[in-house]
Amino acid sequence: MQQRVVITYGKYGDTEVESAILAEAGFDVILASNYPETEWPELWRSANALMVGIDVWTRDKIATLDNCRIICRVGTGVDAIDIPAAADHGIWVSNVPDYSIDEVSSHAIALMMAQARYLFPHRNLGRTANWRYRAETPIRRLANQTLGVIGLGRIGKASARKGKGLGLRVIAYDPYIPDSDFASVGAEKVDFDTLMSESDYITIHVPLYDGTRRLVDARALSLMKPTAFLVNTARGEVVDVPALVEAVRNGVLAGAALDVLPVEPPDPDDPVLHDERIIVTPHIGWASIEAGQDSRVRASEEVRRVLSGEPPWYALNEPVR
Ligand code: NAD
Repeated sequence: MQQRVVITYGKYGDTEVESAILAEAGFDVILASNYPETEWPELWRSANALMVGIDVWTRDKIATLDNCRIICRVGTGVDAIDIPAAADHGIWVSNVPDYSIDEVSSHAIALMMAQARYLFPHRNLGRTANWRYRAETPIRRLANQTLGVIGLGRIGKASARKGKGLGLRVIAYDPYIPDSDFASVGAEKVDFDTLMSESDYITIHVPLYDGTRRLVDARALSLMKPTAFLVNTARGEVVDVPALVEAVRNGVLAGAALDVLPVEPPDPDDPVLHDERIIVTPHIGWASIEAGQDSRVRASEEVRRVLSGEPPWYALNEPVR
């Protein structure tokens, strides 16, 4: 019988890229969003491989996947997938670990620069032909200010390099990497509290897991300078967002810029969307035409490998049967 690949993300609206690799290899490629939602559980159950976005895959949901051999995350973050549950159920989990390093780090730096230059308030002045310089806007020269990077992995290192290129002093907190990694991007190694209190801009690049959930909470925010900004392009739950909104409101820090939120999309009435000092973008840090194409091609190749009987290249677990 023809093996089936079910795609659960609908953001591209077609399966052109995936089909060029998978249908070509003889697999049946199905885009779930072409079917009513009530039919999705049956589609998942029939799948030999799933290609997923940021949709949540709990142990219970995974237990319904009777035929599945791989759940491939067409992206990097895998916090929404119960990876041990998949292993218990005999299913590989893999991802595309490095398709958007340039994009996410550029997005983090763009958000930082937007805050540093008060870009959006000034865009609003420009739109009303108001050319009056407001001396009370506390713009500060970027060079020699301090950028703090939390999580100095692939994206954190790229952000650190870009920060150095802008003349910033870069400090970083990451207890899991060797000192040589800090030196390789010209970052000073510091502990968490020092990073929170010395940085003028903080950018977060840790994965979400129990050890990083609400890592930046009310206590951590209270250490920040009142002139500092927080940028998060990692995962929403790494920051206690209600505490952040409260802290910005009370002047504990100057503002924030978030590409990710604990619930996506958020409730339109969520206060985080309604404070001028907080910029929110809709989880598009990864986005570029090149990254979209690259992730789809590489995930399709990964699925083709597994359905052809080979192990995946980017395995995140070891299926038990
Ligand atoms: P990575 O694995 O290369 O780096 C993560 C770093 O975090 C590692 O160096 C690790 O040692 C460090 N770390 C882990 N726990 C930590 C802790 N408690 N404190 C400090 N450091 C800790 O991952 P990456 O490729 O740089 O991606 C980072 C995250 O970015 C992903 O997990 C994903 O959630 C997010 N991401 C977001 C987008 C987007 O569109 N906004 C796109 C891709 C990735």
